[in-house]
Amino acid sequence: MADQQRILTGMRPTGQLHLGHYLGALENWIQMQHEYECFFLIADYQAMGDHLDDIGLIQRSVLEVATDWLAVGLDPEKSSFVIQSYVPEHAELTMFFSMLIPLNQHQRNPTLRAETAQLESESQSITLGFFNYPISQAADILLPKAHLVPVGEDQVAHIEYTRDVARRFNRLYGEVFPVPRARVGRVPRLVGTDGQAKMSKSLNNANPRMRATDPGVVEYNPAFLYHDAFNDNTDEVAELKERYSAGTVGDMEVKDRLVDAINRFLEPIRERRSWYEDHPDFVRDVLKAGTERERAIARQTIEDVRQAMQVVYT
Ligand code: ATP
Ligand code: MG
Repeated sequence: MADQQRILTGMRPTGQLHLGHYLGALENWIQMQHEYECFFLIADYQAMGDHLDDIGLIQRSVLEVATDWLAVGLDPEKSSFVIQSYVPEHAELTMFFSMLIPLNQHQRNPTLRAETAQLESESQSITLGFFNYPISQAADILLPKAHLVPVGEDQVAHIEYTRDVARRFNRLYGEVFPVPRARVGRVPRLVGTDGQAKMSKSLNNANPRMRATDPGVVEYNPAFLYHDAFNDNTDEVAELKERYSAGTVGDMEVKDRLVDAINRFLEPIRERRSWYEDHPDFVRDVLKAGTERERAIARQTIEDVRQAMQVVYT
């Protein structure tokens, strides 16, 4: 469809996917693949930025991520699965964009600042490749001229940055890129099963209940967050919440029921996954076809960029 809007979004091939990926990203993607032309990127350049010492992990994870995507229900007939470094135009556009962005603006990116501080605290060196990744991500999104980017909350600063790049380019050289919007999933940031990420004493949510007979506060219990997200038996969830508030159910039972619910949720995914595990050539073909589809569009975009910037010599 000519008037269909585009999506570019992706993941880093840095290990196994978790439930946060499902709620923060995949659940949204599965819906959106019916309404948009989607490019799902496996961002291996971006993974190298801080995992180059574990290239084996990246190598394994490319196929693993694609396998997971198929298992959760992304449809390779509708959408393109793309390997970032196999479309060299990603690198080319990163190079052009890097000429446009002042260093001090780049350094103000809050997510980059936080991640750089984190790596420094672990005494890891910051490579230029890592430092550059927000601009490389802007290139990823703008290369297929995406309109929409479904992401988790941690990525919103990068989409702002990408919007800036698109606006700046268009202002300098004419309207080449749409200014893409971010869309955050149903659960913007899933806390760890221990609730760590958002738990704080001031919210009075850090103390575990000592006895099942103590009344509990449902809102601050991460187990209920997971129940709300994954338990399809809403009557059971409502009943557990009621009993929890009244102090007539223990944390153990709440968690046991949660384990059952998550297993129910994962069962069909595991089943489909095992088929794809047995057919890795199918998965490779999906990656090959998707990467080729994006590449054709990427070539055209680079042509547009060269024309607009007057980087044409012959
Ligand atoms: P890494 O630690 O290597 O960065 P990651 O778990 O952050 O891995 P990414 O591949 O960086 O995973 O992110 C893929 C997508 O999943 C992004 O859109 C990100 O916002 C989303 N996401 C990751 N973790 C969560 C989470 N806990 N809750 C919600 N969304 C998440
Ligand atoms: Mg991440």
